[in-house]
Amino acid sequence: MAGEGKKQKKPQKYVPKYKYYKVDAAGKVVRTLKNCPRCGAGTMMASHKDREYCGRCHYTVFKEGQAKPAASPAKA
Ligand SMILES: [Zn+2]
Repeated sequence: MAGEGKKQKKPQKYVPKYKYYKVDAAGKVVRTLKNCPRCGAGTMMASHKDREYCGRCHYTVFKEGQAKPAASPAKA
């Protein structure tokens, strides 16, 4: 009778690999992340809001056009 205690495991939150890929309108699989120019193909760079970062060599690329000056002159 006893024995199998039904333990409810909490659903673990994990990031699926396919997050890094998406299928475009033409049904073509495209990578959403860039490869690191230093580490070469196979090493993807993490995409942040305003930059891309390689966790391997710590290479960081700031996205152009989105960079705003940190201190904007306030009108007095
Ligand atoms: Zn790298």
